[in-house]
Amino acid sequence: MQITEKDLLEKLKINFGYDSFRLEQKSIIENILAKKDTLVIMPTGGGKSICFQLPSLFFEGITLVISPLIALMKDQVDSLKANGIPSTYYNSSQSSEEQQQVFDAIANKSIKLLYVAPESLPLLQNLLNQNYISCVAIDEAHCISSWGHDFRPSYKQLSFLKKTLPETPIVALTATADKATQEDILEQLAIPNATKYVSSFNRENIALEVRPANNRVQQIVKFINKRPNDSGIVYCLSRKATEQLASKLKQNGIDAKAYHAGLTFDERAKTQEDFIKDDTQIICATIAFGMGIDKSNVRWVIHYNMPKNIEGYYQEIGRAGRDGLPSQALLFHSYADVIQLRQFIANTGNREVQEAKLDRMKQFAEATVCRRKILLSYFGELIEENCGNCDVCKNPPKFFDGTVIAQKALSAIYRLQQKEAMGTVIDVIRGAKNAAVYDKNYQTLKTYGVGSDTSWQHWQHYIIQLINQGYCQIAFHLNNVLQLTDFSKKVLFGGEKVQLTTPVEFKKETKVTAKEKKSKTKPAAKDTLFERLRKLRYRIAQEEDIAAYLVFSDATLKELENERPQTDNEFLAISGVGQRKLEVYGGEFMEEIKTFINEKKRGRKDTTLETFQLYKEGFTIDEIADKRNLKAQTIFSHLSKLYLEGKDVSLDEFIEADTLKLIANAKKVLKNEPTLKPYFEFLGEKVPYEQIRIGLTILQKKRL
Ligand code: ADP
Ligand code: ZN
Repeated sequence: MQITEKDLLEKLKINFGYDSFRLEQKSIIENILAKKDTLVIMPTGGGKSICFQLPSLFFEGITLVISPLIALMKDQVDSLKANGIPSTYYNSSQSSEEQQQVFDAIANKSIKLLYVAPESLPLLQNLLNQNYISCVAIDEAHCISSWGHDFRPSYKQLSFLKKTLPETPIVALTATADKATQEDILEQLAIPNATKYVSSFNRENIALEVRPANNRVQQIVKFINKRPNDSGIVYCLSRKATEQLASKLKQNGIDAKAYHAGLTFDERAKTQEDFIKDDTQIICATIAFGMGIDKSNVRWVIHYNMPKNIEGYYQEIGRAGRDGLPSQALLFHSYADVIQLRQFIANTGNREVQEAKLDRMKQFAEATVCRRKILLSYFGELIEENCGNCDVCKNPPKFFDGTVIAQKALSAIYRLQQKEAMGTVIDVIRGAKNAAVYDKNYQTLKTYGVGSDTSWQHWQHYIIQLINQGYCQIAFHLNNVLQLTDFSKKVLFGGEKVQLTTPVEFKKETKVTAKEKKSKTKPAAKDTLFERLRKLRYRIAQEEDIAAYLVFSDATLKELENERPQTDNEFLAISGVGQRKLEVYGGEFMEEIKTFINEKKRGRKDTTLETFQLYKEGFTIDEIADKRNLKAQTIFSHLSKLYLEGKDVSLDEFIEADTLKLIANAKKVLKNEPTLKPYFEFLGEKVPYEQIRIGLTILQKKRL
């Protein structure tokens, strides 16, 4: 059977509720459906799951999904079931009865996807054959590689899969970008010819911000109070710090919980569960928290301490905004943290690599160019444009033409044959007379001393900016030597201009006001339709004992709020609503929307009636406006409405007879123009808008 793009889009909508594919999802899915081995590299939150879940609907047999964590499996199975896709998981914690049910389900192909941990695979041996299994997906595939950051020995045995199922497509998925790990995955899984799909790591919806770490607690309190009801994670370096911060936040009326490896298994499981289910909005955690959490409505991630490398930082902030809605990543930068991290590193194995990585993290924190450019260039991705969604882009430092400086630095790197680290490069540019220079005869180079008029620190600052903009790079695996990039040529030979900034001091943060300090309670969220829908979602999730975001994501609630669907067809048109969700949840959500709309209508009526009451009591317009804390203009519009409805309001009081005549005349000429501006202009800009509006209301009522 030929599967067309239309078929794919139909399944995407009916079963997942989405209208279009993201990034490379479509090509990946087509590749899998063509039964080819596939390697998918996509950032956290990029949308890897659909890549194997959607093809499973077209396959005859089941798709076997290898996943490292039970919590993760459960979450994915809940999510699939909520979308009406039959699926289950198999693990050692299940009773033999439950396990038998799984075997039966496989044998009679009544499920589309089966999740299993690698440890449990041998127990399924009898069922591992082509009759039952149509596709194998290996999630978090980097766990198979000892190069990756969380190697799991049990993943090692997965190489037998290709031998057992030579015709079955194997799909490996991970968010780990580095080349060594990628190659290792292909080799270990014995799928050397897998088609590779490397997606952009850019997560545009996550706003990046770095602040100096003064008064961190107060800054965090303020940050959270601006976002009542939003879920977020604060990452701290130590167990103690998580406890302390959680208790300080509680003192400030914020419901936060601590999470770290020192708690019992049950305590941790409970905290994680509460967070996933929206019962606890804020977690202060060590970085152990978040692995295996797919919660899509995490709205912000704060780093109380500096992370030790950019990989970790990016993975942690990636937990925010999986639903694609605007989200925040705030990092606090302190030198004390840097020093502490250096001490940790000093006692570990590959110290030099780790130090270099920490340096990059520090450079990111100190950057004066678009922070997203820095992050992405770290992952080997060059973007031309500034992102517009980081603190530097939003509040840019002053730039000057640094082309000559850049040329000096890059040509020094070139003349040093890309064999020296930053320190020596700067020494050469500044014409230093030290051993590092003389031992290698660098004083004879053409670029020697061309930058002696600029201080060492400033050169360092400029070169960091050049690295951050992708004009040169640090080779960590080669003693941190500076190397040129594809962009370097543009500056050296292509006449490209380079913008640099002079070093700037971090601005002092405003303190939490006394008033804010005094109020110990969280500001209440407004009564918006979104809030109502959020509460409904929470109630339903409780009843079904699943995570709230599995009912609908925040993005879907936002769209429901904006579109206010009232029929099944309108409801189904919302992104994130598939067939099953329409059937199961549609009624209640549309009911809630209707109630809200009616209440607001009634509310509007009430407000005009309140104005009418005061008017009848003889108050002037200004007095009514004052009492009701509304603008005079609004009171006039209330009175106009009442007047049109035939209430006893004499609008004529507010307008001179002559002015009314002028407006009547204008109306004839302008032939009932619907907007006020033409009237304003026609009347020589002499009659105020408010008067025109009153005049037109009177004329309308009198049908003149
Ligand atoms: P990953 O596994 O790559 O971290 P997920 O598969 O959990 O990411 O997807 C992240 C979020 O994006 C989920 O909430 C998912 O429903 C949503 N998503 C995935 N694909 C699409 C799409 N094509 N359109 C809209 N949302 C999508
Ligand atoms: Zn930016």
